Amino acid sequence: MWCLGVFVLGLCVGSFLNVLIARLPYEKSIIWPSSRCFACSRPIRFTDNVPILGYLLLRGKCRFCKAPFSARYLWVELGTGVAFLALFVAEVLVNWHRIPEMNFNRLASNLPPGRCLAMFGYHATLVTGLIAAAAIDAEHRIIPMQITYPVMVVGIIGGALMPWPWPQPPSTANAIPAGQPWFMIQNFGKVPTGVQPWPFWGPTPAFAPPGSWQLGLLTSLIGALAGSLVVRATKWLFETGFGREALGLGDADLLMMAGAFLGWQIAVLSLFAGAFAGLMLKLAEFLLRGKPPDNTVPTPPTLVPVTGPPQARELPFGPGLAIGVVATWFAWPWLGPQLQFPFFDGETLGWLGAMMGVGLLAAALFLRRPAEAEPAAAR
Ligand SMILES: [Zn+2]
Repeated sequence: MWCLGVFVLGLCVGSFLNVLIARLPYEKSIIWPSSRCFACSRPIRFTDNVPILGYLLLRGKCRFCKAPFSARYLWVELGTGVAFLALFVAEVLVNWHRIPEMNFNRLASNLPPGRCLAMFGYHATLVTGLIAAAAIDAEHRIIPMQITYPVMVVGIIGGALMPWPWPQPPSTANAIPAGQPWFMIQNFGKVPTGVQPWPFWGPTPAFAPPGSWQLGLLTSLIGALAGSLVVRATKWLFETGFGREALGLGDADLLMMAGAFLGWQIAVLSLFAGAFAGLMLKLAEFLLRGKPPDNTVPTPPTLVPVTGPPQARELPFGPGLAIGVVATWFAWPWLGPQLQFPFFDGETLGWLGAMMGVGLLAAALFLRRPAEAEPAAAR
């Protein structure tokens, strides 16, 4: 029953996302007027708007003029429903992140307790934001701030309300003896996981002890800041070397949103995982279509996106980045302990960051040379 309910909830959220995806890039109101056929402008009946069923019964066409609707409506609804169901199964039923307090099976109760639902709702908000940002980026090559900023605010408020190591008691942090550096995993043990996977730093400072709202707030704020900065720094370094636009600031907003929920460690790693996922998506598109995708921005002639000029990027990075965030987040039970050493050691972290910056600049400079050979390609 819970799984069915969660799936239907996901379908309804996906249905709402379709409205956002169709209207936000044009700064139209999302509540008024009611949904209309884009071809004949007749309002869509309430009963035809039922997720999935409405689309399938009408075979994806307008009831009146038979104009075909994009298959996106179906895929976004179904995708959000499946994503909600998968998140519920992974976090609440399977306890994927191995949080002892979240072990639903041990509780021998018919209802998931409130804490499980609070965590699910919190993370489902992030998943919703990621799907919306990825779908709008794929279709319109922009990631609107109207998606990323409100979801980030939910991430920061939720972080302060469920501070690490929540839902476990703050004493869980004592698994690592007081006064010891947290990177010595072989001597002192792993950092326990909470709804916020890790605190922003360890040992936690005196003004933000484990379980305090100050720690949760700082973890979310620093996560958001780091997510935004790592994309902006990469963009700046790459464009300095390469001489052409590489990433959009919407990509920075996407990682900022994810960092508010998952902390800076996952946000930073997600950029690398996202670059790999983006390449895989491009490869899949090439194999499926047999030709490189055209770079024109698909917009109806009468409706021009108002959120900045369309950027002639090679490919929308949002979908890859969203996949990178989810992959890193769900690999964390294995990835986290492996990376505890560099992530809690300031000196190693500084050296790694500096080396990556230099490497990125060098790679961009190396890639620049063939681009300069083509006239009018560089600007
Ligand atoms: Zn119509």
